Amino acid sequence: MAFKSTNPFNNKVEAEFDEHSENYVQSAVERADGAFHTWSKESFSYRSKLFKSLAKYLKDNKEHLASLMTLEMGKIASEGVSEVEKCEWVCEYYADNAEKFLKDELLESDASKAFISYEPLGCILAVMPWNFPLWQVFRFAAPTLMAGNTGVLKHASNVPQCSQAIEKAFIESGFPVGVFQSLLIGSDKVEALIDDDRIKAITLTGSEIAGSKVAESAGRNIKISVLELGGSDPFIVLSEADLEKTARTAAKARMINCGQSCIAAKRFIVVERIYEEFLAKFVAYMKTYQPADPSLKTTNCGPMASKKFADDLLKQVEESVENGAEVVLGGQRVEGEGAFFQPTILANVQPGQPAYEEEMFGPVASVIKVKDMEEAIKVANDSRFGLGGSVWSEDKDQALEVARKVETGAMFINSMVASDPRLPFGGIKKSGYGRELSHLGIREFVNKKTIVID
Ligand code: NDP
Repeated sequence: MAFKSTNPFNNKVEAEFDEHSENYVQSAVERADGAFHTWSKESFSYRSKLFKSLAKYLKDNKEHLASLMTLEMGKIASEGVSEVEKCEWVCEYYADNAEKFLKDELLESDASKAFISYEPLGCILAVMPWNFPLWQVFRFAAPTLMAGNTGVLKHASNVPQCSQAIEKAFIESGFPVGVFQSLLIGSDKVEALIDDDRIKAITLTGSEIAGSKVAESAGRNIKISVLELGGSDPFIVLSEADLEKTARTAAKARMINCGQSCIAAKRFIVVERIYEEFLAKFVAYMKTYQPADPSLKTTNCGPMASKKFADDLLKQVEESVENGAEVVLGGQRVEGEGAFFQPTILANVQPGQPAYEEEMFGPVASVIKVKDMEEAIKVANDSRFGLGGSVWSEDKDQALEVARKVETGAMFINSMVASDPRLPFGGIKKSGYGRELSHLGIREFVNKKTIVID
């Protein structure tokens, strides 16, 4: 199998790479396992110095790394630069805080002393997606490696250059051999890796189907897994919302990464009293997103990551319309070679339509009119996903009541859902399990060992 860097702006294959051989994979896992024995014994300050130098490397190579994302999955230049900056931040954050998060935790008991010792597990496998090719990897690697584990990455097949650039970043920042490695392998090789005794745990960010396959293999092997899967985040607009700010942020929250984000706002649930006013403003803001060349700094809407993704999205839109959804804006692919999709708003979205039931992984907003707050909560929870969500109201008590009742891993009041190294990130229901980032993220891949001294 060859890995292709296909530019979604013009559908041109820019580079091809051979898959790593079985021998290569075996030696990489051997190196990771071997490196664990020294890396795990190093001091936090040693590991921290390396992560600081990695942050500096990212800073110095920001434009280049951003351009690789543009080339391989169409990320617009400005978002590419911000993504690299966020990776610098997560490296700095865990360099500064890992030791504090993992220090022995004293417990009350009958013994003279009892405490939890957080100890690394070994080599952790990360299966990662193409939508945030750098951020998804660094938000795994910074806490996991700072905790003393080593890591091997199986990145999405459409971003081989990003995958290799990440490994290079670790090597050039001075990390010892084997601490972090990228494997160019297909998803058919993942199961054997999970079966390998030298792999101690797995994390996957991606689709529900990939998540369930990986979890199945992990379960069979009695290994820990963390899954960060899809989402269909509700964006709940109540009567007391500041409609100008809400509509402006609604468009931004839908259009981030051309709509290809697990935490993008996807279902806009709007109470009837302000429905028409909100919709008019939302349409106006969505119209400000103009599909264009993603490498230009002025572009605010790039192509989707591949023609296939754009075609799949079109099918979801068409099926929704056949079943009663109404196109208020867009609704079509943009003519030409690029994987462009028009910024789209669907109204009259109802149960049974893909726009209601499924994740719409692209620039398509589903708008649902509800009677009141209670119905908004009911509709928000009528989803098999439970990643994030937001609620918009100047009545903070009312907004908080809604936030508590919506079944998700995170709720934001009067701001859009966004990941932040300091805040736990992850979902419930079919959005996955486990938490990344914050003090919780670094405690996923450690043995929480109880030590009791009589
Ligand atoms: P996938 O889940 O197929 O890809 C994500 C990662 O999982 C890739 O590295 C992929 O490898 C790997 N993978 C795929 N299938 C398996 C498997 N059976 N066993 C082990 N690893 C596997 O996502 P897609 O790129 O196909 O996107 C499809 C949908 O998934 C999107 O439309 C969206 O709904 C959701 N998604 C959600 C993301 C999120 O951030 N939560 C990110 C990306 C997608 P390979 O590329 O080699 O197939």
